[in-house]
Amino acid sequence: MTQAAIAPTTQRSYEIRTFGCQMNVHDSERISGLLEERGYTVADAEATPDLVVFNTCAVRENAANKLYGHLGNLKVVKDEHPGMQIAVGGCLAQKDQDSIVERAPWVDVVFGTHNIGSLPVLLERSRHNESAQVELLEALETFPSTLPTKRESSYSGWVSISVGCNNTCTFCIVPSLRGKEKDRRPGDILSEVQALVDDGAVEVTLLGQNVNTYGVEFRDRQAFSKLLRATGDIEGLERVRFTSPHPASFTEDVIDAMAETPNVMPQLHMPLQSGSDTILKAMRRSYRSKRFLGILDKVRERIPHAAVTTDIIVGFPGETEEDFQQTLDVVEASRFSMAYTFQYSQRAGTPAAEMGDQIPKEVVQERFERLVALQDRIAAEESAKRVGTEQEVLVTNDTGARGEQTGRLTGRAPDNRLVHFSLPHGVETPRPGDFVTVPITEAYSYHLIADPTSAEEYCVRRSRAGDAWDRRQAESCGTGSSVPTAGVNLGLPSLRVDA
Ligand code: SF4
Repeated sequence: MTQAAIAPTTQRSYEIRTFGCQMNVHDSERISGLLEERGYTVADAEATPDLVVFNTCAVRENAANKLYGHLGNLKVVKDEHPGMQIAVGGCLAQKDQDSIVERAPWVDVVFGTHNIGSLPVLLERSRHNESAQVELLEALETFPSTLPTKRESSYSGWVSISVGCNNTCTFCIVPSLRGKEKDRRPGDILSEVQALVDDGAVEVTLLGQNVNTYGVEFRDRQAFSKLLRATGDIEGLERVRFTSPHPASFTEDVIDAMAETPNVMPQLHMPLQSGSDTILKAMRRSYRSKRFLGILDKVRERIPHAAVTTDIIVGFPGETEEDFQQTLDVVEASRFSMAYTFQYSQRAGTPAAEMGDQIPKEVVQERFERLVALQDRIAAEESAKRVGTEQEVLVTNDTGARGEQTGRLTGRAPDNRLVHFSLPHGVETPRPGDFVTVPITEAYSYHLIADPTSAEEYCVRRSRAGDAWDRRQAESCGTGSSVPTAGVNLGLPSLRVDA
């Protein structure tokens, strides 16, 4: 065994490369938490890490080709850095399993979506045995939220309420990779939310592939609305969001809970996928466009300023021009503030990939461009309605290059719209996690501008999340802090809130 092979974990640095959806982003926070608990440290941007973890996604087009491209590039780096390890996890690992080390024998560990917690042990075992370790489970070993988590943001956090999905949408690989829906107990979820709030978070997003069916395992059809209401009782939690609901199982008690729980934000992500009932049927999505629009009407009746976002697939097999026109009609009627639009492409392992009548690429592209143009226009019109209103903005730390040029800071309005705001002369600068109230002065499709003309038009509210930001800054500068904080949150705190 070489010296590098027995290097203690306390000296090792890591980098995680995350692909895909918010579930994966949250899983990567857990992978960070697990590794840091074992003494790994984040690699410096310029340095070569001792460990690179790929958290992969099988949903996006060409995911496999892209992964093997990255792995090929990394082989050269690994050859020059003895002792470096490469691990591949996530949905693509769950799907391709052994074939990953067959195609890329320099990979040290392959782990699946059901056994994230095994990663540190598999890395040790691979180093010790000097051989690749491939371990994937067909079912969930530990509910992922019971793993340590290193949160990327001091002001907001993600909390899984369920994993897996009992639906069988014909374009989706999730059910075969993430398994049947598993629900977490409400008390455990609320305890984790409370722990995040205790750690300074003011915003929490509840995560599940299909949050509306939450409770199916313990047979409570109203479990999700009860959970939303229960988050309203958590002191210090100012903003609650959730993603994603499914239109087929969206019930009115959820709309009531959203409208009647002040910290549940006026925002809804409701995946449409298609406006054609024929295509929805072929997708095996059991709602129809009329029901979809009916839900939006009810939501807007109770929550007039709700911003609704969606997902749409263009060019599903068999989609005719008439079907596509129906999608455009539903989009026009729905007034989405934003849509994640996808061009359909075949995914091996999904029923839709086997369907006849796949739509030529150029037809899909042309329809896609029409859809994007329509959605951009609607988004601009909806944003324009915010001009002249006052918005309370949760300040974030992603100002970006443009912000550096303009001097504006960035945050999110209650409806989750992006707001770039400037500071009038002489006012207090907010920290990420603080709130500012500003007048909206300009609107674009996907962001708003707020340029208050005087200090009277600007108000800052310091928050616990801003204090948590200060503490993190002090710690990263090595100046320490008198206030104890949990760098790695253990997911299941001792405090328990019963629901
Ligand atoms: S609801 Fe459909 S698209 Fe969403 S995860 Fe389940 S199968 Fe996939």
